[in-house]
Amino acid sequence: MAYSSRGRKPMERASKISHANIIASPEVQALLSECSIPRVADTETIAELLVQVPDPEKQPIKAVIAVDGSFREALVRDEFPSATLTFFAFGPLYFKLEDLRQLDHETFIAPEDLAKLKTIQRFPLAVPTRNISRRGLGLQDSIRLTLHEFLFKRHHDDEPLGVTLRWLVFRQWTGDRTQSRTLEHCPNLGCTREKIVLLPDTPDVFDCQVCGKPIYLADVLRLHELVDDEQGASRITPYLLSALETLALVHLIRALWEMKPLLLREVLFIKDGPLALFGQVFTLVEPLKDLATFLGQFPDPANPTRTLPLLNVVGLEKSGSFVEHAANIEKSLDKAQDAARADGIDAGVMLPLSNEYIYKYVIPGDPGSTIPYGQNTYWGGKMIFKAKDGSTYVATVPTFGGHKSKPEFKDFMNLTEVLAAVSELRCSMYDNALIPVALANRLVSLSEAPSSRILETFAKDSIRR
Ligand SMILES: [Zn+2]
Repeated sequence: MAYSSRGRKPMERASKISHANIIASPEVQALLSECSIPRVADTETIAELLVQVPDPEKQPIKAVIAVDGSFREALVRDEFPSATLTFFAFGPLYFKLEDLRQLDHETFIAPEDLAKLKTIQRFPLAVPTRNISRRGLGLQDSIRLTLHEFLFKRHHDDEPLGVTLRWLVFRQWTGDRTQSRTLEHCPNLGCTREKIVLLPDTPDVFDCQVCGKPIYLADVLRLHELVDDEQGASRITPYLLSALETLALVHLIRALWEMKPLLLREVLFIKDGPLALFGQVFTLVEPLKDLATFLGQFPDPANPTRTLPLLNVVGLEKSGSFVEHAANIEKSLDKAQDAARADGIDAGVMLPLSNEYIYKYVIPGDPGSTIPYGQNTYWGGKMIFKAKDGSTYVATVPTFGGHKSKPEFKDFMNLTEVLAAVSELRCSMYDNALIPVALANRLVSLSEAPSSRILETFAKDSIRR
């Protein structure tokens, strides 16, 4: 390693390069002269862009379903070369806003209440990530097989998540049977076959006509492209988790849509992190945008000339550049809120994040760029929201008509209702968990039954009302 010309330099070499030397070098000086870093937005700019968030006239949202998850890499052999598996656990948590409100009035929370906090469902998954082979397959193929089996297996008596993957990829809500998805290459190493067209009725797994090896529907996630037999698969784990969480969310949206579409009005779906997919799995973003657009155009049964947007979904971020930026401008948000209060207006405020704002103040980039930030990776628009009680959130909410480079309040789907429900959760971005312990302590009416059955109970409850 000490003689290697690439990769990381050994510690002893690195330590001889002092910071002072680096900064004084003409090459670094030349580079720095061309660099810019985002500046802090001033209070006036923020005050101009802020929008007051009205209270909803009526709150149709009655329940919250929050999806989150985690992964942990575990050594299964610690002598070198080490072998690792990565364990994923993810799933939805369900509760009613009414229960939350009731608990707010209780001064003492019984330990039994805490014990009642359970997820609807946890999907456990173990993926080989380094030096492990299944059935003699290479790491790439071992991972493909594992994902395929996981996605098309029934968990409890719920439908497999893969059915939802198919529903999403082929936009099956449209009823259009001609939807297709093309794999650029056969995912099996060494095979030369290109342009493999998948259709809504393509089986979950089929044999490649050229190499004879299996092609899985799950290959549309393209995660195997980031797996290297030697380097391992740790690169895919954050992308895989976020794809699985998104899939679990869509699984529940689909269940409600198929059960009774109007119930979607009564549920707020929360995703941990932004409504975005990075890495290879961004290929799910286009169908997600189409799904949001479709649900956003639902005709109001009471008045078919109007639409009744059915989707209440928000992504809440806990870390990253946007959260740091939100913390940075907190004083400006406070000032604007105080000024409004002096005028007798007690409201939450939200700052819609335009392309220009993001590239100027948050992420280095060209503020004049015509390509919207996150065009290929986000399925919603971003904002910073400060609730009446002072909690601050970095949120993503789908926008009508796809991606917007300068979203306005009215562009976000059901924003008044969504933000009102988020305010009730009071899990600010400074809490690490999606549902912080303080909130978890206040939750009841949860069970371990499969999600579809919980939703049925919810549906029956709602129909009875
Ligand atoms: Zn092939």
